[in-house]
Amino acid sequence: MISRFMQSRMAPSPIREAYERAERLKTEYGASEVFDFSIGNPTAPCPQGVAQALSATLESSGPAIHGYMQDCGYLEVRQAVADSLNRRFGSSFGPEHIVMTAGAACALNVLMRAVIDPGDELVVFAPYYAAYRTFADNWGIKLVTVPYDERTMFPNLDAFEAALTPATRMVLVNTPHNPTGLVYPDDVAEGIVDVLKRRKQETGQDILLVSDEPYRELAFDGTKAPWWPALYENTVVVYSWSKSASIAGERIGYAALPPTMEGVDELCHCIRRGIGELGFVNASATAQRMAMACVDQTVDVSYYDVNRKALYEGLLDCGFSPIKGNGAFYLLLPAPDGDEERFLENLAAHRIVAVGGSAFECPGYVRLSYCISNTAIKASLPRFAEVARLYFG
Ligand code: PLP
Repeated sequence: MISRFMQSRMAPSPIREAYERAERLKTEYGASEVFDFSIGNPTAPCPQGVAQALSATLESSGPAIHGYMQDCGYLEVRQAVADSLNRRFGSSFGPEHIVMTAGAACALNVLMRAVIDPGDELVVFAPYYAAYRTFADNWGIKLVTVPYDERTMFPNLDAFEAALTPATRMVLVNTPHNPTGLVYPDDVAEGIVDVLKRRKQETGQDILLVSDEPYRELAFDGTKAPWWPALYENTVVVYSWSKSASIAGERIGYAALPPTMEGVDELCHCIRRGIGELGFVNASATAQRMAMACVDQTVDVSYYDVNRKALYEGLLDCGFSPIKGNGAFYLLLPAPDGDEERFLENLAAHRIVAVGGSAFECPGYVRLSYCISNTAIKASLPRFAEVARLYFG
């Protein structure tokens, strides 16, 4: 019954495994006794636009507003997205450059399928969001990973340059970053782009840069994520309201295509075809209306910032050496003795569930998603302290 392809994929992903471990512990000990830092499921209250769009939909509910539409989404929604981007970033997107998608995950899949032939290469920077590998496998794409600089957790640019080959078709960046919680500073973004520009100059090779930005607005301490299209013309921005509006289950995002790139119309056509051919048909009608209502709204970012500070400082006080992030809602914590598995077990024995860094190609670390309530963060700190005593006495 099961294809050979799926047989090779039967093992649950480490993130799912951690999530399920948390669920088992909750059944055993009760939800309030378990500190589930496993998945990045947002908990900040949704911005007002979400409820407004939903009540407007309820008021006028009927086939006309729930029906099929163009595969790229409603024109007025794409126009609103283009206008918002142009206002904020001085760009010149038209609605024809925006394709509405079922979240960033859909956009990434249709883009990979549109741009990279099986056997050709996609470059990602470790550590990286684990699903990138799964998505690449969907299309027979070879995933090439660039190691990070141990001191900064940012990409090693010499290794990046060395990783490019004639088969490189796309480079994928993500900042604010999952799993480090870091925002790339300008010099890191410029360094990446310089390598791509040099490659173009030296070999004539055009490589598409895809910026995966579901955490764009979740940046703290006044940090701003780089705007890649201003640095490199051939950039596709992939966005999602999953985290910025706390509507991850509604599945809504977009791909914004570079207006001046040669061949942009063909790329747009291929992405639209992908949405239909992969069975998405179009992004949800109601979710598009929510997105339009939230186009310039986000959750209250201080909700996560409070958690970030409490967790970081609490872990420091325990004697751990957490990485101080300034974006998204993740914190990376090195296992005190470098043994990730043992650290995960010790945490779980104290009912703290995290995800092992190996899932993101940064072994020896664990990732904590701090998108849980502030009360739970505070209540978890004595448990972390107990774990710390196992290592530091
Ligand atoms: N990209 C990154 C870096 C993510 O962390 C996630 C979700 O956690 C996604 C993409 C997928 O987001 P979406 O819910 O919009 O598909």
